[in-house]
Formats: sequence, C-alpha cells, structure tokens
Amino acid sequence: MKLSLMFSARCNARCAHCSTSCGPHRTEALSREQIFGLMDQAAEASHGEPLRIGLTGGEPFLDFPLLLEIVAHGKALGADMGCVTNAYWATSDDKARAVLSELKDAGLNRLAISASRFHQMYVNRRRVERALNAGRQVGLPCGLKYVHLRSDPEDERTIDAWARAAGARHVEVFPVLPHLREGEVLPVDEYRRRPGLPTQRCPGMLTTVGWDGEAYTCCNPGAFNPLLSLGNAHVSPLRELHDGLYFGGTQQILREHGPIHFARAVQARGEGARLRRDYTSVCEMCTHIATDPVMAPIAAEVSEAFEVQQLSEILDRVVGPATATDIGGIPVTCEGRHSMKKSSGKKRSTPKISAAKAKKLKERRELSFMVFSDRGFRMRLLRNPKKVAAEFGLNFTDKDVEALLAARDDIKAYGEAVDTLVRLGKNVNDLWRDRNMIMVIDGLLDPGGW
Ligand code: SF4
Ligand code: SF4
Repeated sequence: MKLSLMFSARCNARCAHCSTSCGPHRTEALSREQIFGLMDQAAEASHGEPLRIGLTGGEPFLDFPLLLEIVAHGKALGADMGCVTNAYWATSDDKARAVLSELKDAGLNRLAISASRFHQMYVNRRRVERALNAGRQVGLPCGLKYVHLRSDPEDERTIDAWARAAGARHVEVFPVLPHLREGEVLPVDEYRRRPGLPTQRCPGMLTTVGWDGEAYTCCNPGAFNPLLSLGNAHVSPLRELHDGLYFGGTQQILREHGPIHFARAVQARGEGARLRRDYTSVCEMCTHIATDPVMAPIAAEVSEAFEVQQLSEILDRVVGPATATDIGGIPVTCEGRHSMKKSSGKKRSTPKISAAKAKKLKERRELSFMVFSDRGFRMRLLRNPKKVAAEFGLNFTDKDVEALLAARDDIKAYGEAVDTLVRLGKNVNDLWRDRNMIMVIDGLLDPGGW
C-alpha cells in the first residue's frame, strides 16, 4: 500500500501556489494517535505487500520530535518512509547534517525537497542546497520537486543540473497548475500548456489522507474534490478507502483509460466547449473535469455506469455460473446493487433489502443473493444459505446446502489461481478485474465476515 499522510496544515511559508492554503495561521492536524492508528491500519491492510508511507503537510519538520516518532513507528512497521519538506530548517551545514542524520537513524528512507519561485519568498535557495548536500553526506537519498513557471529565469535543464550538483538523486520539475492559494491568480501565460487533450493514463495514484481525515485518490493540486474522494478515514476503515483506490469506477477509468475517457464523454454530451484547448498535463485536465460543475457530474455518471457494467460482468462470470442451478427446485437469482457518492461527496446509505422487496421475493419463492457494492466495490454477499432460506420462509435440505458449497469450491479454486498470479507480480493492471472477483470470492468464503 502507498499511503500519503498530510498530517498538518501548518507551514512556515505561505506560497502563492499552495493549493491547500497552508501557512503559519493554520492549526488543523491529525493527532499523534490518529497518525499512528492510520499507519497501523495501513500495515495491516498491506498483507505483507510493500508498504510505503509518505509524510507531508504543511511542513512536517515544524514538529520535529513528532516527525521522529512517526518515522520510527513506520520503521517498526517495516514501512518504507518518505517525507516532503521545504528545507527551511537547513540554516547551517552542521544543522542540516544533524537533522537528516537523526531522521535517517529513526528510519527515514527518502526525503523530497520542494522548491519554486514561490518557495523562495520564504525559504532561501541556499537552504535547499544545504539540505540536498547534507542528505548526500549522511547517506539519505534526497530528491528535488520543483514547480516551474513559464517566466522562470531558469529552464528545466538548468534546474536539474543545479539540484544534482547540490546532491539531489532525483529531480522532478512540474509545471505550475491553476489550483493556487485561495485568492491568488497568475497571468494565464505562466502556465506551460500544450495544445490538445492529453491522452495519457493517470500517472500515479496513492491513498492520500489529509488533516481532516478526508481521503483522496492522489495528492495533486486540485485533486481534493468529490469525484476523486475515497471517503473519510475517521468514518471508514483505511482498508475500505484503499479498496476504493483500486475498485472504484472513477479510479479504474483513470488508471485504464486516463481522464481522456471522461473528456470524450463530455464531448459526446455536447459540452466539449467547456474543455480547454490546451493543458499543462493530464492531471490538469483530470482536475479541471473533476471541479467543473457540468463536467464533474458527467464523469460521475460515466464512472457509475462503468461500475454497474463491471458488477454485472462479475456476476455473470462468477456468481452467475456458480449459482445457475436450481436448488431444491428453487431458482437462484443474483441481484447487484451499488451505492455511489452524491456530488456533495456524501455517501448514500448502503442499500438494504426493503420489507416490500423481501415480501415480493418470498411470494415469488426466489432465493436472492443480494450483492452490494459500495464505492470501493466492496462486495457484501448474504451467503449463509440456511439463514437466508429461513429469512424467506424456505426449507433447505442438506443436499441443497451441499450444492451451494460445491459451487463455492469452484470459485475458491479460481480465486486461488488469480491470487497466485497477483502474488507472482503478473501485470497487476490487467488483473484488477480479477481482483474484483476476489472480493466476491472473499465474500463467498467468509460469509460471516460481511
Ligand atoms: S507549498 Fe508547501 S511550503 Fe509552500 S505553503 Fe504550501 S505546504 Fe508550505
Ligand atoms: S490523473 Fe487525476 S487522479 Fe491521476 S494523478 Fe493526475 S490528478 Fe491525480
């Protein structure tokens, strides 16, 4: 699991391009217990797979003792720990070395230093150099993340050369995106846009949890909106939010097709004029669609239709064939439902079998497996044959139950095969659908757990 924790909104700087409007005046933060709890949940949900935790904010170094504790906790969990800073603390070479040495000893694996013309109003570039150099000296890999404006005096190559000479292992130069600090604007020619709609797929998602517990699909500027929301970590278990990253319709579309899929749907609805003719990056188009009052609902509808179609495919391929037999002379049917987020970002209540529906089913003498999928595509399967049968006033013989269990065994074999492929590192992107099926299989194998 890849988890990004934006654990505090407080920052020493007030950069004009800061999309989350962080600054010295902000006090929102996750508590120590909440941070540790989320990290523990992440470790548990990783099931032995690599766990990467990135710490960001705000400025994580402002509470250095807490940062050390968090890093040490991550190390104890076996996590690969990274952190982002603006390097304000590198006031001298000795201080920079001492700080990074302590963090490395605590268990930090990587440090990213963010810089830009905006940062330089608060943090002298000399401090960035010192921090990069100190990282090299103490053996802590450091990288530079540089936000670039069109009118910057240095081009990307010059920045890259400067940072590498200072000690950076990696350099990423990003074009500034039009999601700035509240109230800030930039001349339109500061954005380095290219003509046409970007056709790339989503370059990288990670479960991002902010200081208010809200979780999102990535931490890019402009990404904190209902379309890319995964829920709230104070309300739902992290595992469930993380499932949304893999099984949510929006996320699967972005991963498999890219935001262009939504852009084409917008054009097909006659709203293409709302799209820009040029974008800085695929992420700008993604967040533009996700924050536009007309385009965002279209994208949400497309995502919902994708989930419904996928759910019916899963039912056909897994639950359908497995239950396509009459049991005790009773036709077994499957029914899929899903709940989506409303555009307000609030989740609808999980669908339940209504009294009227139960009565109808009872009259039709149909046993129905109600498969519920929430936004994270988490399947809820009522699969206790005797209990369900009793609920609908049916009598199941042991033979009927055996027939169900036999079907379950077939599904289990299939699930194990898919699981093995995933463990062997086969193309995971191609297996997302099959992993969805594992969710169904999990439900079948552990009916009590739902
Ligand atoms: S961009 Fe980073 S350094 Fe600047 S105000 Fe925001 S959190 Fe602080
Ligand atoms: S494409 Fe969208 S979801 Fe993917 S990283 Fe960019 S902004 Fe985030």
